[in-house]
Amino acid sequence: MRAAIITIGDELLIGQTIDTNSAWMGAELSKAGFDVYRMTSIHDRREDIIFTLNEAAGKMDVVLITGGLGPTSDDITKQTLCEFFNTRLVSNDEVLRMIEDMMSRRNFPMNDNNRRQAEVPESCRVLKNAMGTAPGMWFEKDGTMFISMPGVPYEMKYIMTEHVLPELNKRFTSQIIIHRNIMTYGTFEAKLAEMLSGFEAGLPDNIKLAYLPASGVIKLRLTGTGTERDSLSELINNQVNNLYKTIPDFIYGENEESLEMVIGKLLKEKNLTLSTAESCTGGEIAHMLTSIPGSSSYYKGSVVAYANTAKTQLLGVQEEIIEKNGAVSEKVVQEMAIGARNLFKTEYAVATSGIAGPDGGTEEKPVGTIWLAVASEKGIVSEKRVFGNDRITNIKRFSLAALNLLRKQIINY
Ligand code: AMP
Ligand code: MG
Repeated sequence: MRAAIITIGDELLIGQTIDTNSAWMGAELSKAGFDVYRMTSIHDRREDIIFTLNEAAGKMDVVLITGGLGPTSDDITKQTLCEFFNTRLVSNDEVLRMIEDMMSRRNFPMNDNNRRQAEVPESCRVLKNAMGTAPGMWFEKDGTMFISMPGVPYEMKYIMTEHVLPELNKRFTSQIIIHRNIMTYGTFEAKLAEMLSGFEAGLPDNIKLAYLPASGVIKLRLTGTGTERDSLSELINNQVNNLYKTIPDFIYGENEESLEMVIGKLLKEKNLTLSTAESCTGGEIAHMLTSIPGSSSYYKGSVVAYANTAKTQLLGVQEEIIEKNGAVSEKVVQEMAIGARNLFKTEYAVATSGIAGPDGGTEEKPVGTIWLAVASEKGIVSEKRVFGNDRITNIKRFSLAALNLLRKQIINY
C-alpha cells in the first residue's frame, strides 16, 4: 500500500513554517500499514500542484494533501483540484450552514470570503471539519485516492482522525508495521555498525534495522512488517533481546528516552539524590536534568563554578591544587564533585571541567578536552574524554558524557 504526502504553502518553502503535518501524517500512515513513498512540499502555484498530483495519480494508493484551502487569494488548492479532477465549484449547503453557525456564535457577519469557503468541487466527497471553516475533500482518480485537508495542524488532525484514518483502515486490509527504538550512547555509528554486523545478518527478512544518529546519541530503529500483530510483536521482542545481548554497554533506554530521563527514573527508583558542579558546561547538565518533570524529588542543585575563584570559594577546591594541575585536570574535577556532594548533601554529585573552545587549547590539553567526575559514598570515578572543536557541540557532548558516566555509576549502586 503506497502513500504520498503533499504539503502546499509558500511559507513551508521559505522556512517560515515547519512542515509538521508531513511528520504527523507519515507516522499515522505508517501505523496504518502504509508505505510512505514520498513527501513533497510545494508553493501555492497552480502548475506545481498539477505536476505533483500527476506524479502520484495511478501510482499511489493514497495521497494526502494539506494547505491552500483558506478563503484568501493566495490559497489556490481548491480551484486547482477542480481543474485536475475536471469538475467545478458548487456551494455546499451543509458546509454553508456550519460556517454561518460558527460566525454567528462569534458574532461576526458573513462575508463573501465565508461564502466562498462553503464552495467545494462538485465531484468530491466532503469531510466535515468541526475545528474550522474549510472542509476536507476526498477524490478518486485512476485508482488513487486524493484527500485534501486544511493546513492548520489541528484541523488536519481532526479530519484525519475522524474521517480519513478510519476509512483507510476499512478499505485496506492493513499490513501491520511495528517500530521499536533502542537508544544507545557511547560509540559512533561506524563502530556500532561493525559490532552489529552479525546481528544484522541474522535478522529475518521482515525486520529492518536503521541507524538514526543525533548529537552523541544513536537511535537504533527496528521495523517489522507482517500480517499478525502478536507474532510480529514477539519476533521483534526477540530481536530486541538479541540487541541487548550484543551491545549491553551501549544501550541506555528505549523509544525517545534521553539520558536525563533514564537517570531520573533510576534515582527515583533507588531513592537517591544528585547535585552538579559545572565549569565548562555552564549549567547545561542542570538544565537537562531539570527539564524532566518531577526532577525536584532527586535533583538538589548546581554550582556553576566557571572561574577558579568560584571553584575555590563555592566548592572548596584548594588553590594549590588548581595551580599545580590546572583547572582542567582530574584532581580538580574530583575535588569539584566532592565539594558539590558536601555542599548539597546528595548521594551523587557530578562535575565537569574542560575546554569548550574555540580558544584555550594547548598541545597537552587540546580544545574539546573534558574531565568528568562522579562522587558518591563508593568513592570517585573520573574520566577524560576528547571531543571536537565546536563550542556549542562540545558543551552538549560534554554534558552527555557526564550524564552517561553518572548513569553507569547509579546502575552499579
Ligand atoms: P492554509 O490551509 O494554507 O491556509 O494553512 C493555514 C496555516 O496552517 C498556515 O498559515 C500555516 O501556519 C499552517 N500550515 C500549513 N501547512 C502546514 C504544514 N505542512 N505543517 C504545519 N503547519 C502548516
Ligand atoms: Mg496557505
